[in-house]
Amino acid sequence: MTGGGVRAVVRRLRGRTGIEVKSSDQIEAMRAAGAVVARTLRLLEGHARAGVSTGELDELAEQSIRDAGAVPSFKGYHGFPASICSSVNEQVVHGIPSREQVLVDGDLLSLDCGAILEGWHGDAAVTVHIGTVAQADSLLSSACRAALEAGIAAARPDGRLTDISHAVESAALAAAAVHGTSYGIVADYGGHGIGTAMHMDPFLPNVGRPGRGLRLVPGITLAIEPMLTAGSDKTEELGDGWTVVTVDGSRAAHWEHSVAVTDDGPLVLTVE
Ligand code: MG
Ligand code: MG
Repeated sequence: MTGGGVRAVVRRLRGRTGIEVKSSDQIEAMRAAGAVVARTLRLLEGHARAGVSTGELDELAEQSIRDAGAVPSFKGYHGFPASICSSVNEQVVHGIPSREQVLVDGDLLSLDCGAILEGWHGDAAVTVHIGTVAQADSLLSSACRAALEAGIAAARPDGRLTDISHAVESAALAAAAVHGTSYGIVADYGGHGIGTAMHMDPFLPNVGRPGRGLRLVPGITLAIEPMLTAGSDKTEELGDGWTVVTVDGSRAAHWEHSVAVTDDGPLVLTVE
């Protein structure tokens, strides 16, 4: 899930959740939680195809998470009814899985998954092609993934928080130039601290000048999650109170990893 939106504003007004600096043992524990998320997303990628509903993917995800002895962190989060967010086409993030929502060839599906293992959270997202997608959609997703990779590479000790924001933004702009197009970089939502809770301080914008905000020291753990659109960066929330869509109907991609800043550089936690 993403940080940002109304809930994060409310939380910021109430006060900080605190920045956690994890020990190496705690980072190892977060890796274990992250591995559950990674395994679950890989399972879903293998099952996501035309004719399958997002509700079925949600059931698979919950089973995978619980089989690992973990708990799906999204389920019941501020009342969210499912274990994954499934956001199709113009849906950017926080789509609610449903048995009625059957995937069709050409859909661009973002899957976001979170799990808690022994008190530690993992949070990651992938964008999946359903059958054969338009080349523009494939390029959009690869640009978003490249922006994530650039953001991860910037999560270095002695850097600052917005070095990551700047790296994400720069990579998205560079990819757009290479692809001969422009992308909307969604700024209403962003990444977040993660650890003993899913959404912790700091909020991590996906745009901005470098060299500002939290100093990145070993033990800081962040969910980095760019969201790109093929059109406007403006979004709105549907009447279900969750699903975030592009205002212009353009398609969107979303990639996310939970990452630790370590002495040796960035360490991706949501991998197997
Ligand atoms: Mg997140
Ligand atoms: Mg997420």
